[in-house]
Amino acid sequence: MSSALNKMTVEDFDVKGKKVLVRCDFNVKMENGVITSDKRIVASLPTIKYLLDNGAKVILCSHLGRPKGEVNPEFSMKPVAKRLSELLGIEVKMADDVVGESAHALAASLKDGEVLLLENVRFEPGETKNDPELSKKFASLAELYVNDAFGSAHRAHSSTTGVADYLPAACGYLIQKEIQFIGGALENPKRPLVAILGGAKVSDKIGVITNLIDKCDTLIIGGGMAYTFMKALGHNIGNSLLEEDKIELAKEMMDKAEAKGVKFLIPVDNKVGREYKEDTEAMIVNSDDIPDGWMGLDIGPETQKLFADAVKDAGTVIWNGPMGVSEWENFASGTVAVATAIAESGAISIIGGGDSAAAIQKLGFADKMSHISTGGGASLEYLEGKELPGIAALNDK
Ligand code: ADP
Ligand code: MG
Repeated sequence: MSSALNKMTVEDFDVKGKKVLVRCDFNVKMENGVITSDKRIVASLPTIKYLLDNGAKVILCSHLGRPKGEVNPEFSMKPVAKRLSELLGIEVKMADDVVGESAHALAASLKDGEVLLLENVRFEPGETKNDPELSKKFASLAELYVNDAFGSAHRAHSSTTGVADYLPAACGYLIQKEIQFIGGALENPKRPLVAILGGAKVSDKIGVITNLIDKCDTLIIGGGMAYTFMKALGHNIGNSLLEEDKIELAKEMMDKAEAKGVKFLIPVDNKVGREYKEDTEAMIVNSDDIPDGWMGLDIGPETQKLFADAVKDAGTVIWNGPMGVSEWENFASGTVAVATAIAESGAISIIGGGDSAAAIQKLGFADKMSHISTGGGASLEYLEGKELPGIAALNDK
């Protein structure tokens, strides 16, 4: 696998007077045709502005929702063009199709410093099949290609991957930052590297645990998946989440950590509830002593200290998965304690995973982290050590 750290970025191109096709992530939240969060459009501005400031002719494209290869006005990019135009303060021309006559005519007439947005790439049935014919059509619109859609970089589609076979290809600033932080932490971390993994299921995170155990100095397991590890140690876990078929694997992971000299921490105490309910009766119990009829819904106060202590001197922290049911205030303190410890540590801090990013934002720690990944699924695959096709397809420097 070639290093993602060596990929060309938008600044490596001479873009003046060139038509540049940019794959953005404009998959915004919409209700009844109205954009309810323009966060993703705002996030894409640095790359677009760089290109405009440097005299490029900018052709943008993205998917929006799941139109399944058919033209469907419900998933039109028109509202995005309108919002983008407001944010940039210039007209954003809107094509009536993806790679058809309208797109070609508008692309051909673009002047330096002008912007065109193509229709939803998933109106084309070839898009999700990475059809080379469609990839060639995308390529024929432009002279250079920039991918800035990290959230789709784990998908080998025409507009994210295939098009790079036919044009010089570089990443935009969003993908560059993902590579710098996640790629940097995996390939050449500032040590000690501490990985904190939580969330509901061991089965969702096997790939991440397996990859990180080979790389980190300390591995911390919290959240619902910690109970399968406790069970593997022979503890009584009451009604806590358990994946029976992963107990053996949990044992293997702990043995592997020991053999490699990786510090492996699981909760020593827990906040348990009677029921899986926000206002359930709750108490603190040790991990070897969860009574029948109770379930672990957050890490306990001793564990908060233990985990905070392990984070204190970290050079880099990679975090995926909340420490408990952090959506509920009653069971959010473990996640808050770990977030606080990371914020105070001075470590390079990287948050991956959709629910984790949402939790960090909701709990008010977003500006305290070095990097919150913009791609849920993509960030997990990256942390699993997989090569992301949308990044692999870019040119090396
Ligand atoms: P991400 O999307 O960041 O990868 P996950 O989807 O793996 O994160 O985990 C988030 C979910 O894990 C949350 O919905 C949270 O409620 C749940 N969770 C965390 N701890 C527990 C627990 N002890 N019992 C049940 N669910 C839990
Ligand atoms: Mg999730």
